Amino acid sequence: MDLFEYQARDIFAKHGVPVLGGAVIESAEEARAIAEEWGGRAVVKAQVKVGGRGKAGGVKLASDPDDAVAKAGQILGMDIKGHTVHKVMLAQTADIKDEYYVSFLLDRTNRTFLAMASVEGGVEIEVVAVENPEALAKIAVDANEGVTDAKAREIVEAAKFPADVADQIVEVLKSLWKVFIAEDALLVEVNPLVKTGDGKIVALDGKVSLDENADFRQPEHEALVDHAAANPLEAAAKAKNLNYVKLDGEVGIIGNGAGLVMSTLDVVAYAGEKHGNVKPANFLDIGGGASAEVMANGLGIILGDPDVKSVFVNVFGGITACDEVANGIVQALELLAASGEAVTKPLVVRLDGNNAELGRKILSDANHPLVQRVDTMDEAADKAAELAAK
Ligand code: GDP
Ligand code: MN
Repeated sequence: MDLFEYQARDIFAKHGVPVLGGAVIESAEEARAIAEEWGGRAVVKAQVKVGGRGKAGGVKLASDPDDAVAKAGQILGMDIKGHTVHKVMLAQTADIKDEYYVSFLLDRTNRTFLAMASVEGGVEIEVVAVENPEALAKIAVDANEGVTDAKAREIVEAAKFPADVADQIVEVLKSLWKVFIAEDALLVEVNPLVKTGDGKIVALDGKVSLDENADFRQPEHEALVDHAAANPLEAAAKAKNLNYVKLDGEVGIIGNGAGLVMSTLDVVAYAGEKHGNVKPANFLDIGGGASAEVMANGLGIILGDPDVKSVFVNVFGGITACDEVANGIVQALELLAASGEAVTKPLVVRLDGNNAELGRKILSDANHPLVQRVDTMDEAADKAAELAAK
């Protein structure tokens, strides 16, 4: 989950990363009192979860309280790369002498963590990485050792930070690493990290991405969720503990195991090319041990998606045998019918693996008018795509 800048700023402050005063508002008039309190001047910043706000006109300097209200009014409601601005953050102004870049992230390829740092901050780091790669230092951080004094010095030296700010940046790196570990983040980034006129180092913009797999031990993170922006189907699926991602096609997908579901998406997209380019409508992994209830919950979400025209249930029986899954499907359809949810979309079911024969027999015996059994994955995908195209 990506956080808004103001949320990142709060988390930075909590762990000792130096930040300036900030306040988030949703109506322009609220800017007046805040700017007055700060002696008139303020930076007005769009709160959207996308980079390059500065270039897009989403970061403006206000010279007095009236100007702060005017600038907040201009930015609220603005569209930045498809994101509507509902909140702005007022930040205390900084006298910027230099702009740097620092981040920590999970480096999946090398199975470690990575520190990145550059004295060329303030611009998009992707651009620096391409046009001036030697200006972006990359240092691996061992998960067990973390960012010690020595590691922080190594990063500072690799990025060639000037001597007069080296000690302060070492402290910032150590605090930022605390944020990364304590909050179970996948990314913490400061761009720009600035040196002010009086030689102080402050984080002026922050990006934090949290690892949702750690939500169970991070009860405070629930309060950071932007419920207004959540897709209602994804929110409903989350409430039922389902691994669901909404996509923009027409074929609803249910499978057991993330790998199988991923390849099901590919097979359906490929089959869809022959049927008016229909595509998968979602990712849904019901996992192992899929009970009738889990199947009913999954089907309920998918059938409730108005974009879905057909559903492909693709199951490879393992620990959970196919007969249990088949019973799950039959009972799920009964549960849905009993709850008054009319099942009107065709289902294509492919069962293979452990106890496949028995599972298929259960489906055949149930003889549900909307359920078709197709025994190979490719043929089932083709059938589901064909039904969705009708
Ligand atoms: P981004 O474009 O979305 O990354 O937004 P940033 O928060 O990084 O702001 C973009 C640029 O605006 C920064 O690189 C700074 O040059 C400038 N900026 C941001 N905050 C301040 C501030 O408090 N004072 C001044 N003078 N400039 C600022
Ligand atoms: Mn920035």
